[in-house]
Order: sequence, then C-alpha cells, then structure tokens
Amino acid sequence: MPVSSGSRAGTMRAAQAILVEIEADAVIPPAGTQMAPIEIELMGEALTLARVAGARGEVPVGAIVVRDGTIIGRGGNAPIVASDPTAHAEIAALRDAGRTLGNYRLPGCELYVTLEPCAMCAGAIMHARLARLVFGARDPKTGACGSVVDLFAEPRLNHHTSVTGGVRAEECGMLLSHFFAARR
Ligand code: ZN
Repeated sequence: MPVSSGSRAGTMRAAQAILVEIEADAVIPPAGTQMAPIEIELMGEALTLARVAGARGEVPVGAIVVRDGTIIGRGGNAPIVASDPTAHAEIAALRDAGRTLGNYRLPGCELYVTLEPCAMCAGAIMHARLARLVFGARDPKTGACGSVVDLFAEPRLNHHTSVTGGVRAEECGMLLSHFFAARR
C-alpha cells in the first residue's frame, strides 16, 4: 500500500530534525579528541596565509582549498588592501581553486579556514558545493556555523557540506587576539 504524502512529509521532518541535532553535536570535537595529522598539517597552511594577511595589516585569516590531499587554492583576508568587502580569505581561496579546476563548482573539495566563516562565505561555500569545511577558531560576532547562526544546519539550504570546527582553534584564535591587542 502506498504511503500517504502527509505521513511521508512528517517522517522527513522528523529525520531532518534528528539530522540537525546530530550535526549540531558534531561541529566541535569534544575536548581531548584526536585531530587527524593531515588536518593539523593543512590548518598549518591556512595559518601561514593568516600570518601573511596580518603582516599586511589585515585581520589575520587564511584559507586553503584541498582536493585529494593537494592544495588547489589559497587565500588571505584582504578587504582593506583590495577595497573590497567581499575579499575574505575563503572567497579568495574558492576563486583560486575555481581557476585551478576551471570549474565554478568544487565537489569533492575541502576548505580549511582559520576562523569560522561568516554568512557571505558560508553562502559561497554552499554555492561551490564543497564536500567539507574545516575551521579553527569560533567567531562569536559573525560566525555562521553555529556561533551567531548555523546555516549549515539548515536542511533547506545545505545538502553538500559537512562541517568540522575547532581544529587548532587555540593558535587560530591567538593570532587574532594578538593582532587586535597590538592595534589597541
Ligand atoms: Zn567571510
């Protein structure tokens, strides 16, 4: 006997609610969780780009795009030097990766960024159909991966990208707090 569309919609809603709960729990690895050596190494590459951005006088945020363990895109935060409010590290890394692949979509790719992406960058990550986002420090002011809003937990928006936060979070955060302390 066919299942009525009403009960199917109800089942879908229940499944999505469970999924949202699981994803919310999965975002930040609990204290003491072992990070994969490759994640530590790749976040190190993003940290290097963040330091370069900081040396230019920009808020130190860096990002890379990785496919099959190879870096195919790099970006540092540059809105001041570029006079461009969209010149966030993630956008620069996505553009670089798009040029590398000759494709505006980046399926199967991962983005590593030192700071939790904002709503603009979360949108760009979704448009690129990235397989995975890995970020370092949380951004309580503009973070769109759980801190202010969680766009990736919205099943009507996101069907492609899994999210891991908190990788080398302390180093990523220290870089930012040192930068702002030096400017005071
Ligand atoms: Zn952003």
